[in-house]
Amino acid sequence: MKVNTATATRPRRCHPLRPEMDHASERAQMVHVQLRGRGIRDEAVLGALAHLPRHQFIPPENRDLAYRDGPVGIGAGQTISQPYVVALMTEALDIEPGLKVLEVGTGCGYQAAVLAVLEARVHSIEIRPRLSACAATTLSGLGIENVTLHHGDGYDGLSAEAPFDRIIVTAAPERIPSELPEQLKDGGRMLIPVGPRRRQKLLLVQREGGQFRTTELLDVLFVPLTRDAI
Ligand code: SAH
Repeated sequence: MKVNTATATRPRRCHPLRPEMDHASERAQMVHVQLRGRGIRDEAVLGALAHLPRHQFIPPENRDLAYRDGPVGIGAGQTISQPYVVALMTEALDIEPGLKVLEVGTGCGYQAAVLAVLEARVHSIEIRPRLSACAATTLSGLGIENVTLHHGDGYDGLSAEAPFDRIIVTAAPERIPSELPEQLKDGGRMLIPVGPRRRQKLLLVQREGGQFRTTELLDVLFVPLTRDAI
């Protein structure tokens, strides 16, 4: 995994891993009840969530909540998304091996890891350096190599690496930032939660021959996409 220097040089202390606690049965239960039980059908997506140790992406004080049916705090007022939302967004992205994917909002790196297990070539950008550094440590500890982390503001995407086959935004702007759809390849798709705090819609944007088609998928609750993180 490549990390930029701002990320790579930062010392960090979070997320000591405890490999002796695998939580496999909790994970199997999560996949069966929360994902299959609610209609997630893509076996590759189900397999990725069954395989990845979600608890290792979560700070120790919240680790016992890792497999609950909801979001969990990861520090700095941010959250790892509910397993169902991660699965639904990943399924709707329609990932194939080798696709180039941008994630805006790395957080703890869990969604990026799911995409990496599906063999996408992932670029993920995070505005909060501590979270980006945590994600770097967790991803490299798991031996995940096809994720490139970037530290910075991803509100306008990542023009240096554009265009992308897929874009997934895991924090909510009030409206779609105009630059983001422009960084999609023709035939590409983007998943993005949009709306004010506490009232957002998850949107699927598809680019087809210079046109953009937007479909509402469901009501969601994400942390805000911000431009001035502390
Ligand atoms: N995908 C994450 C969930 C992260 S929560 C996971 O799997 O855990 C949303 C993240 O978006 C937060 O970490 C927040 O710091 C980040 N974020 C908010 N505004 C941003 C911006 N303008 N650019 C990049 N990241 C941003």
